[in-house]
Amino acid sequence: MEQISSILNDSSTGKEFNIRGWVYRIRTSGKLVFVILRDASSIIQCVAKSDNFNETDFKIISSLTIESSVSFSGELKKDERAVTGYEMNIKSFTIYQRNDSFPVSKDISEEFELDNRHLWIRSREFNAILKIRSTIFKAFREFYDNDGYYEVQPPIMVSTATEGGSTLFSVPFFGEKAYLTQSSQFYLETFIFSLEKVYTITPSFRAEKSRTWRHLTEYWHAEGEVAWINNQQMMDIEEKMLHFIVKKTIEENSEELKILGRDIETLKESMKPFRRIPYRELIEMSESLGMPLKYGDDLGADEERQIMSNFKTPIFVTDFPASLKTFYHQPNPAKPDEILCHDLLAPEGYGEILGGGERIWDYDLLKKRINDNGLKEDDYYWYLDLRKYGSVPHSGFGLGMDRLAMWIMHLDKITGAIAYPRTIRRLRP
Ligand code: ATP
Ligand code: MG
Ligand code: MG
Ligand code: MG
Repeated sequence: MEQISSILNDSSTGKEFNIRGWVYRIRTSGKLVFVILRDASSIIQCVAKSDNFNETDFKIISSLTIESSVSFSGELKKDERAVTGYEMNIKSFTIYQRNDSFPVSKDISEEFELDNRHLWIRSREFNAILKIRSTIFKAFREFYDNDGYYEVQPPIMVSTATEGGSTLFSVPFFGEKAYLTQSSQFYLETFIFSLEKVYTITPSFRAEKSRTWRHLTEYWHAEGEVAWINNQQMMDIEEKMLHFIVKKTIEENSEELKILGRDIETLKESMKPFRRIPYRELIEMSESLGMPLKYGDDLGADEERQIMSNFKTPIFVTDFPASLKTFYHQPNPAKPDEILCHDLLAPEGYGEILGGGERIWDYDLLKKRINDNGLKEDDYYWYLDLRKYGSVPHSGFGLGMDRLAMWIMHLDKITGAIAYPRTIRRLRP
């Protein structure tokens, strides 16, 4: 058996191959049946000529339906008119399953497509999306592995909130209340006292109560935490990481990006140095960016969409007012109302894909912040302990992998960037 992509080249011409997969398109014209066969790797035009088969077999192959599973053997020839430039002349075939008409095609509504995602993931588009996602995840790991980081596994069922109580999912836990993790940050912070540089990729859960184009209730969260480094150094590393991921994706998936209609030049263009704009300056610029804001206003999906339609490269927004962020951020010693943090906003109107910064490392300050926020010290005893024993300055980040994938592929909704999206209205398939 050969993979289709590996036989699509001139040296295969005139040779006989065995391929298997699923019927992608089928068309009969008198004595000819044209089948476009797909496997995981690619598609290829195959032709069955009535002269090569007895009447029964020719009838059988003529009556194949889309998504039937088959194997063909035959000879390959170059053919400029065929979709991928080559055509196989079928000599013999085996049918594994001939199915009824396939329910999903290009002209279906979004809801119907989502209800049938388990079938739609076979489409050429989704095949491309899955391959690109796979590259993005691999590249993320490769970047940090090459730099001496350790991959760690934090728990998913937890007892405390990281990003505020309103989006917590609770699960019964033997008479106690447990939550599905919103972020693994606090656990990653524990690991740095052993390993110094760590990352993880886990699902994070947020009970997002409204439907937006960029929120899932279960999403893939890539997080890192590093001892001894500050906010600026953290941004340096993140910028390199993103350049690496985008470069890898372009190298390995230019074919898939083309299938999705992604303008690769625009993507390449975006890999210039990322500007770092303090929140205060962004507010001053906001009117000229078409989104007038005043100091203290939060940036949400709509604001960021408008702001980022002005930019061709991602930007870091830094030094937010403390009031806009959660309790664990390190204040700027020179301006205590501002925190040493950053959000990375993707261009082309996409907005936030990553948040990060320095964490409070002083025991008394963290304790005060926990109390000021009406949280129970006791719930965070282990997080506070880290500030009691050998505390060190440190920084970290959280990157939404589905959001990154959505931007890289230039999709209009996050539900298109993940195989089985979970949203307020969707738990199936
Ligand atoms: P947003 O402002 O869009 O609600 P956030 O600031 O609440 O995001 P963080 O707590 O900073 O998100 O989480 C880190 C990253 O995780 C975000 O930058 C984003 O890429 C991703 N993320 C957060 N919430 C979601 C979600 N509901 N669905 C998908 N990705 C998310
Ligand atoms: Mg949020
Ligand atoms: Mg945000
Ligand atoms: Mg954020």
